[in-house]
Amino acid sequence: MSEFVVGVGLGATNIRAALGNVEFGILRRIEDRTIKAESPDTVIQQFIHLIEKVSADDLGKVRAIGIGSIGPLDCWGGVILNPPNVPFKNVPVAEALQERFNVPVYLLNDCTAAALGEWFFGAGRGLKNLAYITLSSGVGGGAIVDGVLLLGKDGNAAEIGHMVIDFEERLTCNCGGRGHWEAYSSGAGIPKFTKHLVESRPNEFRGSVIEDLVKGGELTPEVLFDLARSGDEKALEIIEEIGRLNAIGFANVNTLYDPDLITVGGSIALNNQELVLKPILANIGRYTVNRTPEIRITPLGGDIVLYGAIALASNPPSVLVSRG
Ligand SMILES: [Zn+2]
Repeated sequence: MSEFVVGVGLGATNIRAALGNVEFGILRRIEDRTIKAESPDTVIQQFIHLIEKVSADDLGKVRAIGIGSIGPLDCWGGVILNPPNVPFKNVPVAEALQERFNVPVYLLNDCTAAALGEWFFGAGRGLKNLAYITLSSGVGGGAIVDGVLLLGKDGNAAEIGHMVIDFEERLTCNCGGRGHWEAYSSGAGIPKFTKHLVESRPNEFRGSVIEDLVKGGELTPEVLFDLARSGDEKALEIIEEIGRLNAIGFANVNTLYDPDLITVGGSIALNNQELVLKPILANIGRYTVNRTPEIRITPLGGDIVLYGAIALASNPPSVLVSRG
């Protein structure tokens, strides 16, 4: 009889659940809009409903549950603390699901789980040193060093989006810090950075399409990348500038973790692969002394956190297990 695990990926917009195991990967998956409720109980009910639905007749064969969630969270206590962009806080999800399903439940930051997914199912198979970077509504990461998934005291060992990459502190991050990588290169950051460039260099952008879009409040990452693809010079310049900041971030990841491989995911990277990767590859060598690793888009696409949650449930890091 095959045994299964359930993986759940919780984002601010969507929640996904999958039934699977290490041998077969994802066997069944479902997804729903993340519930916009304040009550932790209501959030837990959505988890329960999705886990039951995706498991269906195989619920009795489910041996563990893994969750990759937006943070901040307490991975040791299994509690989702107070993520931005959702109304709920302090959700004791691990304890509640453990009581309901009577199996071990493990909770990790979504990007940390994603690194585990890459290691077990993706381009990182067989490697001992790899890092994953997401360029999405935020910037985040996960790292495996010497065959160990890095967690840190609070599970934030790879909160790379909040590294300072701009000592001039031109932009403020959603976390309140200044000069953080996420403030420039994320889905939320790109429009703000573009606005900053247009306003601080009015002569350069006067009369450009970009200037019009910024003034009209219509500049989104999609619009900027589409313009660049159509050959708009100013859009290409901005993307080059974002790319150089990304190169600093990638270089810092390489300097910190010395990986053989960095894989890249998240909607910004997945939808604009060449425009995102090119300036990183061209510039990373300027900013890091460690040997440059292979850098590529994740083959697991938008399901990388789900794969990570399945890997987490199947092979939880020993430090999480010893927590009891
Ligand atoms: Zn920050």
